[in-house]
Amino acid sequence: MFHDRVATSVVQGSVAPNGIHELRATIGEAARGQNILQMTDRELRRIRGGRIAMVFQEPMSSLNPVYTIGEQIVEGVELHTPRRGRDAWDRAVEMLGRVGIPDPARRAREYPHRFSGGMRQRAMIAMALACEPVLLIADEPTTALDVTIQLQILELLRSLQSQTGLSLLLITHDLGVVSEIADEVYVMYAGRIVEHASTAAILAGPRHPYTQALLRCTPRLALRTDRLEVIPGSVPSRGRHPSGCRFHPRCWLTRERAADGTRERSEASGHGVLRRCVESFAGEASGTPAMREVAPEHFVACWEVD
Ligand code: SF4
Repeated sequence: MFHDRVATSVVQGSVAPNGIHELRATIGEAARGQNILQMTDRELRRIRGGRIAMVFQEPMSSLNPVYTIGEQIVEGVELHTPRRGRDAWDRAVEMLGRVGIPDPARRAREYPHRFSGGMRQRAMIAMALACEPVLLIADEPTTALDVTIQLQILELLRSLQSQTGLSLLLITHDLGVVSEIADEVYVMYAGRIVEHASTAAILAGPRHPYTQALLRCTPRLALRTDRLEVIPGSVPSRGRHPSGCRFHPRCWLTRERAADGTRERSEASGHGVLRRCVESFAGEASGTPAMREVAPEHFVACWEVD
């Protein structure tokens, strides 16, 4: 995930302009004393697609096959801006042109099945940006695309961000994408943020065992190997999280430190892990390690990282 440090501070009405923790504030308390979790459906509808827009992973399932691309963009424009009729249609055509759709006036009258995967994703981005949101959430926007189109979409997002000043929150598993365009990274595991720092700091010196394992699994041209590394086990399903640190059943660090015999091992887990990684403790309501600053502007949620 990333955001533009400066641009995020303009997310008025949904985010308190407090620096690097602003995006987390988007979920809860908002500026002007508003809490978006307590908003009514009508109030939320004004924000969704208006001030906060979203681009989904698979554009074909997000576009309505029985409406033209132009009609689908116009719907949002008429809902969230004063533009109506011909004016809203002109805005749809203008946005398709801005995201690089050739002959946008003709293409706006076509249905989604006439568009290639890359063009559909561009159309989704045009739709998301047509109402000039202050925050764009892009959920795996390039996953369904081949690498050439991926690069085009990333460059498009980057140039639109610098042109319009919007904040961009990117959700991705692709560390290559992160290294290309992100300013700040929040690494999440099983629904919790486990590490947060600038992209450069995370890539040069990841501190959380999960982030370290993720980077080891990333293929590199310079690395000659027959097998790529994997993180053993799988992510726990929602509501079935293990006690203590959610990563402990898969964590190489707690096993390593439990194996050397100098630290207190967990009797209960049978996993050969450190006691404090698996048990809940007073002051840590969930037993999950809290985020701590381990270097300037570098935060990690792990008992074993100093
Ligand atoms: S708290 Fe323990 S289990 Fe969790 S990441 Fe750190 S070492 Fe691993």
